[in-house]
Amino acid sequence: MKFVEAYPTIDELASAEEREVLRLWQGLGYYSRARNLHTTAKYISETLNGVFPDSYEKILDLKGVGPYTAAAIASICFNEPRPVVDGNVFRFASRYFGIREDIGKQKTRIIFEKRLSKVISKTAPGLFNQAMMEYGSKVCSPSPQCGDCEFNLECVAKKKGLQTRLPVKTKKTKVSDRFLNYLVFTDGSNFIMRRRSKNDVWAHLFDFNVIEGDLGKEEIFRKTREMLDHDFLIEEESQKFQHLLSHQRISAVFYKIRIDSGQIKNVKSDIGELFSVEEIVNLPKPKLIVNYLEQIGIKS
Ligand code: SF4
Repeated sequence: MKFVEAYPTIDELASAEEREVLRLWQGLGYYSRARNLHTTAKYISETLNGVFPDSYEKILDLKGVGPYTAAAIASICFNEPRPVVDGNVFRFASRYFGIREDIGKQKTRIIFEKRLSKVISKTAPGLFNQAMMEYGSKVCSPSPQCGDCEFNLECVAKKKGLQTRLPVKTKKTKVSDRFLNYLVFTDGSNFIMRRRSKNDVWAHLFDFNVIEGDLGKEEIFRKTREMLDHDFLIEEESQKFQHLLSHQRISAVFYKIRIDSGQIKNVKSDIGELFSVEEIVNLPKPKLIVNYLEQIGIKS
């Protein structure tokens, strides 16, 4: 809501700074969506003269927009009969039509889209799609309410007793473990933070220097010494934080490292930039960092 209030039009979003856009998105996760929205707003504003594309194919060309979003926008906003296929629709349609293809495979979406294209309302496709998603969520749910279902006489899964076996999904999401040892360099009132690269999670958000790996403290301190070139004092070691992303299980420990205020200003620029507490509050940060900052008394 804050996001929509701040950028009520495409042009306003297009002219915003990326840092500000990410800060407003903070806490919502999936930060690539915010970056893609921003890029797309600029593209529409600068290249398409501020006019949003009005067909499925043109919407699909926008950065970060896949078949699901393109079909949702095209059907709801432009009345184009394009079926939306999300997890709820996969479940409902696979049971109703008795489709046994593996929904974990890319090509299966096309099979569902083709099947649904034959039955989608030509006069109210947006309403049809919203009803499909809602029905899959509320009635044909993981524990289907077949007794109350409008379609229980014609549903293939109900007739064959396949409700719990459909949809078929063989591929499980692979979740990897990561260990992050954060080095929180501070002189007591300023902190060194860095903007994350685009090749990892939380791209372009701000966090602290990190040494990655399930390492012993000696190894972490040795690497810290190499990084700093001068003495430092470990002031505090945090509890272990656990943070779950869709594909990663992160364990993080924060080492608050006191550096003399004279020395901290001379820290090499590749380590990061110096920010006051007030400035940190306005930086876009991953939730994990927000949680740590709150624990040390910085509400951001
Ligand atoms: S009868 Fe059961 S399985 Fe079939 S569509 Fe209805 S709720 Fe889903």
